[in-house]
Amino acid sequence: QLPPFDYQPKPYNGPSADQILEKRKKFLGPSLFYYYQKPLNIVEGKMQYLYDENGRRYLDAFAGIVTVSCGHCHPEVLNAITEQNKLLQHATTIYLHHAISDFAEALASKMPGNLKVVYFVNSGSEANELAMLMARLYSGNLGMISLRNAYHGGSSSTIGLTALNTWKYPIPEGEIHHVINPDPFRGVFGSDATRYAKDVQDHIEYGTSGKVAGFIAETIQGVGGAVELAPGYLKQVYDIVRKAGGVCIADEVQTGFGRTGSHYWGFETQGVIPDIVTMAKGIGNGLPLGAVVTTPEIAHVMAQKIQFNTFGGNPVCSAGGLAVLRVIDKEKRQAHCADVGSHLIGRLRSLQDKHDIIGDVRGRGLMVGVELVTDRKEKTPAKAETAILFEKMRELGVLLGKGGLHGNVFRIKPPMCFTKDDADYLVDALDYAMSEL
Ligand code: PMP
Repeated sequence: QLPPFDYQPKPYNGPSADQILEKRKKFLGPSLFYYYQKPLNIVEGKMQYLYDENGRRYLDAFAGIVTVSCGHCHPEVLNAITEQNKLLQHATTIYLHHAISDFAEALASKMPGNLKVVYFVNSGSEANELAMLMARLYSGNLGMISLRNAYHGGSSSTIGLTALNTWKYPIPEGEIHHVINPDPFRGVFGSDATRYAKDVQDHIEYGTSGKVAGFIAETIQGVGGAVELAPGYLKQVYDIVRKAGGVCIADEVQTGFGRTGSHYWGFETQGVIPDIVTMAKGIGNGLPLGAVVTTPEIAHVMAQKIQFNTFGGNPVCSAGGLAVLRVIDKEKRQAHCADVGSHLIGRLRSLQDKHDIIGDVRGRGLMVGVELVTDRKEKTPAKAETAILFEKMRELGVLLGKGGLHGNVFRIKPPMCFTKDDADYLVDALDYAMSEL
């Protein structure tokens, strides 16, 4: 039984899952994939729970791809959006609106150092597009460096930064260098940050004129399977990149807003201050919203051109985003993520003693990965088993994420209101499913 939860979903009278699926197949493009063999029809959400068309409750351990930060339909966020919706939904950002500047001020107050200039966009891909453009304009160079196993977006430029073959197309990507991933579990140099950093130096020396535009990384790779970069890596790489004329970009699309528990931003876990920070997903609790925060010096190069998009930071998204920042502080969600996350990771590590299929348990706060292997020594990815367990967990009422190059990593990244009871249920369900397997 899922932990008790005092909420009654509304009766659903809409189309059935089969009817939706039929229409989706006809009108939504053939390449769409469905996460479950029998696609799930979600009709309502409340905090860390989702409800299907039959009113069945699920523990949402994936938060709409790490997006629902405060919780589904969180009352304060919902109220902020609703009130703004009644007054003004959109007038374009060429006019003034207090919600936009208040939100920019609140976001800037969360940043260290000189990161004080905010640009609003609509998604993570767009944020990284803009960051890449800024890096290239500011440095006067073209070469961008990103990590193998990285995901930074699916737009035609950010796909170049992304280094996972599922998303690759045969299109020109232009001057992108993918360096060895500093992955302590699978990486060739283990946790030796210096040797991984040397690969960045080598790429610059052998693959460029000696100058680069920038370097981009997440501190815990999300889509890549909750891989936390080897400690000390970013400090060394930021030095190398800056010496080569480049700027350092932190992709906080998944790691930001206190999810890691120990820090508000992922980059703080590596003790660095980037030149550009990109964000999306959790910033809007589900609203289409992204942002780029940078220094006045870098922003200056943008001032020589018009940086404009129609919707970025519209009043409704800004009011919602402002409420998200407020809720995370008021409800002390960062400390909560640290507390619940360490409980969850501790319990998963105990489960690892019992089930050989668990090759690695990693992460921080509520950004957790469980990598499944058929052979612990060889680290052979347990692809088929992951797929079976994934379906089984759905049957048991838990919605997980999947990730990693081989799709053999469970990604546990729930809304930040996820409780220890939820964590216990998830681990017990996993234990049951694995025992059955
Ligand atoms: N960066 C990271 C780290 C992401 O995880 C994602 C999305 N999974 C993106 C960028 C792209 O964001 P979006 O899907 O909003 O374009």
